[in-house]
Amino acid sequence: MTLGPRTLAAADFDPNDPDAPSLRKVTRAWISANIPPLWRQSRRNLSDHQATRALQRAWQARLFDAGLLGIDWPIDAGGRGGTLLDTAIFLEECARLDSPEPINVIGLSTVGPTIIEHGTREQKERYLPSILAATEIWCQGFSEADAGSDLGALRTSATKEGEHWRLSGHKVWTSYAQDARFCMLLARTGTTEARHRGLTCFLVGMDQPGVKVRPLRDITGEHRFAEVLFDSVHVEAKGVLGEIDGGFAVALTTLLHERGTHGLVHHARARSLFAAIVQLAKLVQKRGRPAVEDSVVRRRLIEFAIDIEAMTATAYRYAGSLATTRRVGPEFAILKLQWGELSQDLVDFALDLQDDLAPISDQHQGIDHGRWQHEVLRARSNTVAGGTTEIIRNVIAEQVLGLPRGR
Ligand SMILES: Cc1cc2nc3c(=O)[nH]c(=O)nc-3n(C[C@H](O)[C@H](O)[C@H](O)COP(=O)(O)OP(=O)(O)OC[C@H]3O[C@@H](n4cnc5c(N)ncnc54)[C@H](O)[C@@H]3O)c2cc1C
Repeated sequence: MTLGPRTLAAADFDPNDPDAPSLRKVTRAWISANIPPLWRQSRRNLSDHQATRALQRAWQARLFDAGLLGIDWPIDAGGRGGTLLDTAIFLEECARLDSPEPINVIGLSTVGPTIIEHGTREQKERYLPSILAATEIWCQGFSEADAGSDLGALRTSATKEGEHWRLSGHKVWTSYAQDARFCMLLARTGTTEARHRGLTCFLVGMDQPGVKVRPLRDITGEHRFAEVLFDSVHVEAKGVLGEIDGGFAVALTTLLHERGTHGLVHHARARSLFAAIVQLAKLVQKRGRPAVEDSVVRRRLIEFAIDIEAMTATAYRYAGSLATTRRVGPEFAILKLQWGELSQDLVDFALDLQDDLAPISDQHQGIDHGRWQHEVLRARSNTVAGGTTEIIRNVIAEQVLGLPRGR
């Protein structure tokens, strides 16, 4: 397996080398020096989907060349052979410095780790290097109109025809589907009554005849996800990931990574939002003085600061356990729960601070180029995507606290 050039020497960045500069220091210095200057402006340029994707693509290529991707992936998969804790440190620095999202974020954060855990040697060799290099973008097709929280209800089906499969169905809210070369999806291969036990995970080419992508416009006006229709699509036998009818176990790995490893960095995101809100409170006025001097505003800022400290402490407690257990547990979902609600409270507060300056008009384009108006709309999805707040509460109740099942 060959890899692209690396601008950092492996020794500079080897997580297993005690003499190497710390991973955090290397990551922080590299991101600070390389973050695209246009990023802060262009990410507010909401209508320009193509320009944003081009920037994300270029950003991932640079991260790849610098050897900063796949930190916990096995070396023979093109990774660095580090730990999940190393990856969490890298992601935390990305969040802290507010860097762009790599174009292949789904491939890096969920598809790759799932292939590493459940894939055959052939699948690992075929797909993992191009996920890191972003030469093949991935999307994840789990959700359907009547099967979001309840994957046992999904209806996309695959039937065996000789050596291959025929797949038909309709997925929704598939992030990055417009850009994707492959989709990791769940389809029903058993009976409807079998529910979770009758699902299989497939790796499907988005360029196959019968695949149609219809972009969906979300509340912010962006097209960040799409519906994907599969009409009698041919899938080769080697496109099955994991066991036939064992797709739910594969999906659980995906969800643990989505809510888990990534959960560890939410506190850094919250901290970065909070810092921007403190700046905002210095800029806008309340009763003729900077809002930050107002006692009600100060009290709320202090409450946020305490919440973020508590979140950081929880994240570090779990991060510490990763170093020894090397596994993401259901308890990590607590961080996703905290982030969903806190992020919405933070951005709502930022908009409230602006009082009558909040509405955007032809004359007034908003403070920070309308950043907070956009963030308020964008944050609505934080209590839905990757598991709704109610579902996460169920996970915590049943799998962490050991309470009886709700139903
Ligand atoms: C920005 C964004 C990106 C997304 N990207 C992807 C993607 O790339 N791939 C993908 O497959 N999916 C994606 N999704 C879909 C996401 O996973 C689902 O929206 C989510 O799982 C919830 O499903 P649903 O929308 O069908 O809501 P439903 O499951 O219909 O839930 C509706 C309401 O009922 C509540 N509810 C449901 N069941 C229970 C229960 N048992 N107990 C208590 N309350 C319950 C929910 O909490 C929610 O409030 C994305 C969603 C968003 C918002």
